[in-house]
Formats: sequence, structure tokens, C-alpha cells
Amino acid sequence: MKGLLTYTDSGIYCPQGDFFIDPWKPVGKALITHAHADHARPGHQSYLAQTLNKEILKLRLGADIRLELLNYGSSTSINGVNISFHPAGHIWGSSQIRLEYKGEVWVASGDYKVENDGFSGAFEPVKCHTFITETTFGLPVFKWKPQSEVIAQINDWWRANAAEGKTSVLCAYALGKAQRILHNIDHLIGKVFVQGAVANVNQALERDGAKLPSWVYASPEIDKKEYPGSLVITPSSSVGTSWMRKFQPYEVATVSGWMQIRGIKRRRNSGQGFVMSDHADWDGLNQAIVDTGADRVYVTHGYTDVFRKWLEQQGLEAGIVETKFEGEVLENQ
Ligand SMILES: [Zn+2]
Ligand SMILES: [Zn+2]
Repeated sequence: MKGLLTYTDSGIYCPQGDFFIDPWKPVGKALITHAHADHARPGHQSYLAQTLNKEILKLRLGADIRLELLNYGSSTSINGVNISFHPAGHIWGSSQIRLEYKGEVWVASGDYKVENDGFSGAFEPVKCHTFITETTFGLPVFKWKPQSEVIAQINDWWRANAAEGKTSVLCAYALGKAQRILHNIDHLIGKVFVQGAVANVNQALERDGAKLPSWVYASPEIDKKEYPGSLVITPSSSVGTSWMRKFQPYEVATVSGWMQIRGIKRRRNSGQGFVMSDHADWDGLNQAIVDTGADRVYVTHGYTDVFRKWLEQQGLEAGIVETKFEGEVLENQ
């Protein structure tokens, strides 16, 4: 990768502006697309992020980080490089980062999805010459159902469990999927409890301005008679731990894009699978790329080899940005 952005072993780097985007080694200045652990790492001297990420970044990286914030629709300049943030639709506050220098425009997507989930902000196509796209689910086999259908499946599962006097334990990433579920499910079915890590994220996002429907922290003080008929949202790391005992009798299900792959579903031993991802599917990636109008595309995360070849067949100039850590699995915490 060469030009306004290049690649070093600390991550994606802008030589003209002397800053990095989502670097994985400690650097001087880090521009952060969103608060997931594989993008927002501790130890940088200073951070620049979109305003909606303020409290969630402090929760995850420490209250004492040096953090500058930029609103959507505003821009700032570092050594002549114009910088702005644009909604990526992936999780709350997730942003694409647009850079412009002497008329040349690059956009680094971070993680994104094109379907509007009603909570994370609508993905905004941004015109550019060079686009750096994630390809976490960059194979034609990945094709998501509309969110409304998957949410209806989850509601049906919850309702059926409630009718049998059972607790519904739903495994979802603490940052992103958990709030997307919370925002969209039918709260008339019953009460919604969340595990501790999810509660902490919820509180941080509420301080960042998110409006979440009612949820209750499943604290040790709560009488276990309250759980039958309710929905409990928790990261999948809780499954099989003694923490789960108080929800008996219960059913477990997992919601993730990876649930489309049968082998993963079996291996995780986490009950029923609902296929829903916070990343773009094959069609979503292709739509996003076309909409940028870019004639040069770099791919990162996931099925990069396949996707690069596909782009070249479409007549685009394409390359791969190697990343140290891969995929959505890391975000499960
Ligand atoms: Zn992410
Ligand atoms: Zn990611």
C-alpha cells in the first residue's frame, strides 16, 4: 500500500500526517474507528475518535487516556491532511475515516455494515479515490437475512421458552450485538436482564448519548424466581460457568454471523444459532465499494485473498493490508 496511507508493523500509517489508524502497537497519535478491542488498543500517547465513543473508549482504555473528539460533519487538519469521521453502521459510534490531502481522498472503513439496524447509525457511502475495506465475511456464501426476520426468530424463541416457564439466555458480543438486540427485540414478551460486562457497556453508551430500552443488571442480589420468562443477554464466555445456574430452567442461543457456518455452531456448544452480523455480507461489501467510486481498493480482515482476486476481476486495482489479529472472534468479550 502506497500513497496517503501506507502499512507498517504498527499498523496503517499516514506519513504526511504522522498518525496511525487503529494501530496495534503503541504509537504517538492513533485515529480510532470504533471501540472494539482489535481496533482500540491501550498505550497510545494520544487518541482521536468520533464524539460518540468518548465514554466507551475511557471504559475500555482507561479514564486517563489523552482523547480528542470530532463530531460527524466536522473536520480537523494534521500537517495539511484533512480528517473527518463518517458513520460506518457497525456498532454505536463506529466510523469510517476520510483523509484528504492535495485533492487525493482515501477512506479507511474500519468495520462496517450497510443495513441500518436502527441503533448504530446508517452507513454513509463516502466518495474516494482509494478505499480500505474490511472483508470479514468476504465470501459469496455469506448472505444475511434482513434484520427484521432474525429479530422475529429471536422473539419467537423467547416467547416459546417463556410459555414453558424457562429463561432465554442469548449469547451476544458485549459491545455491539448486545445493544442491537436490546434495541430491537419485543420487550412486551418479558423482562430483559444483562450480564455484568454488558451492563458496563450499556452504561458507558448511555453516557455517550445512547437511548436503550429498559434493561436490568443480573446482579447476585436478584431473586432467581425473577428469571423464568425473561431474556438474559450475555457474552458466550458465560456458557457452562456456575453463573448460569441461577437461570435454570433455561435455553441457550447464540447470535452471530459465524452461526452461518455449521461447524462453528457445533464447536461452540452454545445452543441454537441465529445468523446476524454487525459486518457487511458479500453483497453489502460489493455495494459499499461500488458506492465509493474508488478505483483502488485495499482489503483487510478475513477472506482477503479471495476478495482481492474478485476485485481485480471487476477491473479495480486491489491489494491486501495484512493485520496482526483477525476477525470478529476477538470482539467476543
Ligand atoms: Zn468491530
Ligand atoms: Zn474488527
